[in-house]
Amino acid sequence: MSDDYTKNLVAGFIERCRKNGLKITPQRLAIFRELLKMQIHPSADMVHKSIAEEYPTISFDTVNRTLLTFAEIGVIETVESHSGVRRFETDTAPHHHLHCVVCGQIIDFCDPELDEIRVPDQVREGFTVLGTRVVIRGICRKCAGVAGKDTVPVGGIPHE
Ligand SMILES: [Zn+2]
Ligand SMILES: [Zn+2]
Repeated sequence: MSDDYTKNLVAGFIERCRKNGLKITPQRLAIFRELLKMQIHPSADMVHKSIAEEYPTISFDTVNRTLLTFAEIGVIETVESHSGVRRFETDTAPHHHLHCVVCGQIIDFCDPELDEIRVPDQVREGFTVLGTRVVIRGICRKCAGVAGKDTVPVGGIPHE
């Protein structure tokens, strides 16, 4: 990730907070920056652990509440997770997810064709669609390796 890219995201974050009347405190900025650094769609707990090194007095509750506020004003997104733990990410541009069912890792990928996915009419009838995302569930390379399969091709799921 380039410095310019980060700078733009932080600038966008600050602007968005201002528009929504959210005060930009050093703590809030630190939480956003931490989330930017973590490319793993972390849970609030993971963000808290990571930021506690720099801000030892910050509580889990503060981090969790701050993340939810960020999601409310749209500077970050919550990610669907099958374990029931809410996870967060700063990338609000269209993209899709690979979800490893073993380690829980969520990996981003882009595919313009998938961005154009058609939402069925019967869904649109009773449901306001805000966005679509494809989630591919499977086993990541690392987890497949642990199971004794070092050379599982991307997208491949070991059988046995
Ligand atoms: Zn995995
Ligand atoms: Zn993502």
